[in-house]
Amino acid sequence: MDKAAVKNELVKMLGHEKVLSEDLDLMYYSYDSSFLTKLEPANPTAVVMPRSTEDVAQVMRFAFENDIPVIPRGAGTGETGGCIALRGGIVLDLSTWDEIIEIDASNMQVLVRPGVIHAKLNEELAKFNLFFPPDPGSSQMCTIGGMVANNASGLRAVKYGTTEQYILGLEVVLANGDIITTGGMKAKCIKNVSGLNLTKLMVGSEGVLGVVTRVRLRCWPKPRARGIAMAVFDNLDEAPAAVLDVYQAGILPSGIEILDSSAINAVNSFKPQINLPQAEAILLFEVDGNPPGVEFEGNIIKEVVGKRARTVEWSTEAKRMAELWEGRSITATAAARVKADGSRIFAGEDISVPLSKVADTLRQIRALGDKYGIKVVNYGHIGDGNVHTAPVINPENPDEVEKVLQLVDDIHRLAVELEGTTTGEHGVGAVRRQYAELEHGLAVKYMQGVKDAFDAKGIMNPGKLF
Ligand SMILES: Cc1cc2nc3c(=O)[nH]c(=O)nc-3n(C[C@H](O)[C@H](O)[C@H](O)COP(=O)(O)OP(=O)(O)OC[C@H]3O[C@@H](n4cnc5c(N)ncnc54)[C@H](O)[C@@H]3O)c2cc1C
Repeated sequence: MDKAAVKNELVKMLGHEKVLSEDLDLMYYSYDSSFLTKLEPANPTAVVMPRSTEDVAQVMRFAFENDIPVIPRGAGTGETGGCIALRGGIVLDLSTWDEIIEIDASNMQVLVRPGVIHAKLNEELAKFNLFFPPDPGSSQMCTIGGMVANNASGLRAVKYGTTEQYILGLEVVLANGDIITTGGMKAKCIKNVSGLNLTKLMVGSEGVLGVVTRVRLRCWPKPRARGIAMAVFDNLDEAPAAVLDVYQAGILPSGIEILDSSAINAVNSFKPQINLPQAEAILLFEVDGNPPGVEFEGNIIKEVVGKRARTVEWSTEAKRMAELWEGRSITATAAARVKADGSRIFAGEDISVPLSKVADTLRQIRALGDKYGIKVVNYGHIGDGNVHTAPVINPENPDEVEKVLQLVDDIHRLAVELEGTTTGEHGVGAVRRQYAELEHGLAVKYMQGVKDAFDAKGIMNPGKLF
């Protein structure tokens, strides 16, 4: 079916206001935050902005009958080309469908449409002294639907886990237009072991199994207090060792972040007044809970980490905590400025390795950067081994582009070699599907079998995951 016919059918079905098909509009949907889509942007055939589950089901039935790919999209903050119509097709822009249907504080849960922005949800939940703990760096932009599809997390995953732990149930529209509910979408219970767990299967499925149209989320009580410790290390190996010491002392901080020397230098040259100490590594520990517990745990961290670090500073005072955290909060921005004509690119940015191999990983990434002559800034969530590498290049320079693609390929392979994974939180999408066999072997065949069971014609977000 040609583009004009697709547009006409969609308009007939949903009306002009829910359908976009002008080239200028489509261009907006040709990229996400990935470097891949900077290199190869891809316009969809049309875009639909659904406002009801029936809208989505109608589009799916039409696409199914006519073999047209359908690609769900939230805010497009993904870093893997996941929401891009690589082979044309209909993009479902779910970002404007942002209703919070019900905050059920008495049952510690909330029911939302997929387009609700993460930060906005937590703002509303805070009125009930509740929160939805996973906290991606893109919180102000990304949607709950995108977080479910990518099983997103962030710097507090070390204590609070990832999105999947909070999904009680889903409503999903499948490739043939069937509408299913999973887990506690009809039930409001917190525990539910009834039936095969399709909720867990859907979470992290990156839009290849269906379109998430409603989400029931479990919420937690907001902690009353927090504290921050900053530890400065002259020896990189002492940093992960100190993290292990903290765990062995019976403490599970709500965040443990690392900046290696490349990140410390980037922060200091971007904002000299922050003046981070020159060191091989800086660790930031965040502890949350009730005030006496926070104070107790902070003192243990100070004592235990102090045996390995050059200095440790602990604070529960709001102004000082903000100062201690500031270097970490601007690291991503600072990374982009380490090269005069450079941009930070999102590729190979999200590997995860065992804690015992973090120091080795950082050293090997530095060596790879030197090998290709590319500046790489390293930081990340050391508490769960999630290393963020920020390669900085001039994207208009073909030689640098070629080298950086080799570099990130090496980084992905290094992660698997070190008993880690190519992605700790950002997902696979189009950019990491080439590593599926390497990471999962024969299991990929069974993943494909699951995909076929939900999507016999392969129209749901093709070219992603595996
Ligand atoms: C500055 C920045 C910081 C970031 N920090 C983090 C971080 O700390 N942790 C982290 O995990 N990620 C992070 N990300 C990546 C990204 O923000 C998350 O993966 C986020 O969950 C994507 O949400 P989105 O709404 O933008 O989804 P999109 O990018 O629009 O889509 C992502 C994937 O989800 C699918 N999808 C979207 N909505 C639906 C739906 N309703 N049904 C089915 N499939 C759907 C898409 O097809 C695509 O495969 C960051 C990104 C940026 C730009």
